[in-house]
Amino acid sequence: MPNDTLGRPLKDLRISVTDRCNFRCTYCMPLNEYSWIERGELLTYEEILRLAGLFVRLGVEKIRVTGGEPLVRRKLDVLIRGLASLEGIQDLSLTTNGALLAEQAEALRAAGLKRINLSLDTLDAAKFRRITQRGELSEVLKGLEAAERCGFDPIKINAVIERGVNEDEIVPLAEFARAHGLTLRYIEFMDVGNANQWRMEKVVGKKEILATLAARFPLREAHRADTSSPAVNYEFADGGGAFGVIASVTEPFCRDCDRARLTADGKLVACLVAQQGHDLKSLLRAGASDRELMEVIAGLWRQRADRYSEERLVALQSPSGYEPQRHAKMEMIVLGG
Ligand code: SF4
Repeated sequence: MPNDTLGRPLKDLRISVTDRCNFRCTYCMPLNEYSWIERGELLTYEEILRLAGLFVRLGVEKIRVTGGEPLVRRKLDVLIRGLASLEGIQDLSLTTNGALLAEQAEALRAAGLKRINLSLDTLDAAKFRRITQRGELSEVLKGLEAAERCGFDPIKINAVIERGVNEDEIVPLAEFARAHGLTLRYIEFMDVGNANQWRMEKVVGKKEILATLAARFPLREAHRADTSSPAVNYEFADGGGAFGVIASVTEPFCRDCDRARLTADGKLVACLVAQQGHDLKSLLRAGASDRELMEVIAGLWRQRADRYSEERLVALQSPSGYEPQRHAKMEMIVLGG
């Protein structure tokens, strides 16, 4: 598999299986109305498996299943079983909001899924309701218990920290993760899409997150085995476990970004903050061979030059500043993070 124009290989594929979600998190789906991908335009599980197989043959080692909320798509364990059996895949994970996890954890585990990332931005039920606009914290905690019972390991907690919303949860979430032996990942609020009213003032940066934690716990930076991993890892020096910070706004990591995304309607997207994707579904449904599809994917990756978060930081530090609305960007709901 060729590298892109910045010498980055394609190793990590995020597969969105739906643009639908049972939550309306304010930093991802703040709008009331959405026009969904029509069912006939969604890739079938067979089509997803075929494309995923081609990406793995081209060098992809890690696959993450995302959405929208992937657990709202029926019989997801069927797809997981197929992905888990792909020769050459080294890591298969899923990102979920956890609301449907209690009823699906066992089937997903039996299908070969080993690890899960669970989105959890607060432990306060009222605040949870305000952030998700539809969800119940108790459902998510039941889902987490089921995942722990089924032996998913690791279970990582993803927490998006937004100023004025949940920066006061930084320490309570850490205490919760330490008590449960979970790996917490704090995520800086990003301007993915154009709907979430992102402003730099709302970003609680990595330095501030670390300072807040250091006031409460002894910390030390952990060895970074995989430089392409978006999270910078730390340990609680008192043996309380580990956590990470995904600082794409204040400390962008585009230079090591080996991630591509496949949308639920079959578009290859080269960057989380891209304006558009490249349609693979029409080729696939027009009868393209595996070889033709692999040549198209390799060709698209070879042209890739995306480094949006680095460009955003330069703009933020420039006299003219950065205007997020000036850049048309695909919404998180179709990219799945
Ligand atoms: S902004 Fe784009 S290129 Fe940079 S790390 Fe994110 S996905 Fe990768």
